[in-house]
Order: sequence, then structure tokens, then C-alpha cells
Amino acid sequence: MKVAFPHMGNACIPLRALVEYMGVEAVVPERPNRVTLERGARHAPEFVCLPFKITLGDCMNALDRGADTMAMVCGMWACRFGYYAYVQHLILRDMGYEFESLLIGREDPRSVLEKIRSAVGRRGFLKLPGAAAMFRSKAGAVEELESMARKIRPREEVAGSADAVMVSYLDRLDRADSIRRVRQLRLEQREEMTSLPVRDCNGVLRVRIVGELYVLLEPSLNFDLVRRLGTQFGVEAEPVLSTYRWLLSPLWLDPLLHVSSSRARRVSREYLPYVLGGEEHMTLTGALDAPGDGFDGVIHAYPLTCMPENICRTILPHIAARDGIPMLDLCFDEHTSTVGTVTRLEAFLDMLRSRRDRAGSVHGYRVYNQKMEHLSIIET
Ligand code: SF4
Repeated sequence: MKVAFPHMGNACIPLRALVEYMGVEAVVPERPNRVTLERGARHAPEFVCLPFKITLGDCMNALDRGADTMAMVCGMWACRFGYYAYVQHLILRDMGYEFESLLIGREDPRSVLEKIRSAVGRRGFLKLPGAAAMFRSKAGAVEELESMARKIRPREEVAGSADAVMVSYLDRLDRADSIRRVRQLRLEQREEMTSLPVRDCNGVLRVRIVGELYVLLEPSLNFDLVRRLGTQFGVEAEPVLSTYRWLLSPLWLDPLLHVSSSRARRVSREYLPYVLGGEEHMTLTGALDAPGDGFDGVIHAYPLTCMPENICRTILPHIAARDGIPMLDLCFDEHTSTVGTVTRLEAFLDMLRSRRDRAGSVHGYRVYNQKMEHLSIIET
């Protein structure tokens, strides 16, 4: 059995560990890119949301590399995500691919366990508790690494140094074969990240990113938004969602995630008392909390036909006007270009900087200029 699952950010690292711990081969194709998106878009319904298209292309890549079982969660979300797996697998079979579907939905836990047991066999199934522990451990280490990189990028002396450490540790974490080794790597990555030379600057702009999960977390869809903000623009970017949250929350492997989800629903009830099936409450609460959490602005990133985020799109201007927090809308589809996105980011960040200047702090602008000089030296 060779199992594959769609990419989303660095989720492939804990997911590969989960599968391989139970003795099953995981097929992880190359990271998605614009070609993957074009491939998926060619075979997907035109008005379906963007994550459907890129994950469809990703599934094709996995099947081309020899996967014989496609695993995916389904049916748990009220939005289209609940139907992704059923429709994608139908399209793939229509195209002539042959494979088994391993679909995990919101069903009786005993039937989920039975599905896993029949897929991985009795011996593999006995290893499930160990696999879950390994999965959690790697997901936590990846989350910590990403969060440290986001903080260091806008402050690093040498542009790209945080990313170099991150890439190297992601690779080591992927190859780690025991929880002990993951713990050891976690200590090492912490030490290496915190020892990177950084500028003495407290005036770095801070931007919160809210929106649809896949667009937020998949660099190939959002033109590497988080890294670009940190390295190219010298801005600390903080998404409200993370791969760790998406992976662990449905499995109840971290109760704190449920505390923050309940809080999000409570805080945003005034604007949206219903569940729309996506990340709408995290989006609204992220924007509502932004001024109090010290952010200079909010970026709302979502796919063109996303139902929950388009509803948020109509509510967010009211929050922006009431709380006086600037917001930028970034709507993505397969025709969105890097240049258009970067131009809008530049204009938004310039506006945030002049706002800061008017408020009496010129520090952020100085740091930005230093950063740009530094980057142009490196590029030369
Ligand atoms: S949240 Fe939006 S983009 Fe994501 S699956 Fe649902 S409708 Fe599609």
C-alpha cells in the first residue's frame, strides 16, 4: 500500500510520520507550484474554490508517482471542503486513474478506527498510539520553527538566515525516526534560531493575516506571503491559523485549540451568530483582536469563490471603520499575479508606515529602508 495525501504548508512532515510509523509507505510528491495549480484547474469545475483546484493537481502528481491509496478527511465542514474528496476522486477516476479511497469523515470513532485497521492491517493498527504521539511531536516542532522564523525574518542581520535554518531543520525533522530525536532537534533549532544575529529594532511593523485556511498556509497559492512580508518588506506577519491547529484540532490532540475556537465564536457572535463551515470566526476575531494585540494592520486573504470568507468580506469593513484598523483584501484565483499582489502589498505597507510616522514613530520606516538597502546589496 502506498498512501498519498494533499499538501498544505508543512503538514506533509507530521502526516508522513503518522503513516510510516504504522508501516505504510507514504508518497509525498513535490511541493505544489503554479504548474500543479494549472493542472488541477484544467480538470476542476470552473467556479469551485481555488484550494480544490490545486489539491486536485497535487493528487494527480501523487498518483503519477505511484500512490495507490488517496487519503483525505471529508464531510466535516459545512462549506465545500466537506465534498472535496468525493468530487476529486470521481474526477480522478473519470480521468482513468485507479486507486483506493481512504476517506475519514465525521462518523462514529469506532468506524474510523475500523477503516484504519483494515487499511494498515492488524500489526500497523497496534502502532496507532505511537504513530499519533509521533505525529503530535513533529507537528509541534514544525509549528515552533515556523513561528520563530516569522519573528526573526524582519529583524535578521543577514537576509535569509532564518529561512536557511528553517529549511535545514524541516528536513531533519522529516527524517527523525523517534520522539526522542524530535525533542533533541527542537532544542537545537531553538538554540540556532535564537543565536542568529538580529537588529536592535522594536519598530518593526506588525500585520495580522486572517482568511481562508489553505490560502493562508500554502505558499504556492499566496505567493509566499508570510515569508515575503518578513524578508522582502521587513514586516512581522502573524497568521491566525496554523498547520498545527488544522491537524490537531479535529483529533482533539490539543484541548487548548478548542478553547481558542470557542472564544473566537463568542467574541465574533455580535457580527456572525452562525457557523458557515469555514474559518469565519477566527477571521473576524483575528481582526477584532488586532488593535489590542499591537498589530498595525490586517490582511484578509481568501479564494475568489470562498463562501464563508466572502461573507466575512462584507463584515470586515465595519470592524475596520469601528476600530480604526487598516485592512487589505487579497482575493486569489488562478489568474492572480505576483506583480499585482506585491504592488498592493507595497501600497498597503507604505500607508501603514506613514500612519506610524504621523503617530510619532519613524523607527519602523528607518528599519524598512535599511532592510531594502540590505536586500539590494545581496541581490547585486
Ligand atoms: S473555506 Fe472557502 S475556499 Fe475553503 S473549502 Fe470552504 S468554500 Fe472553499
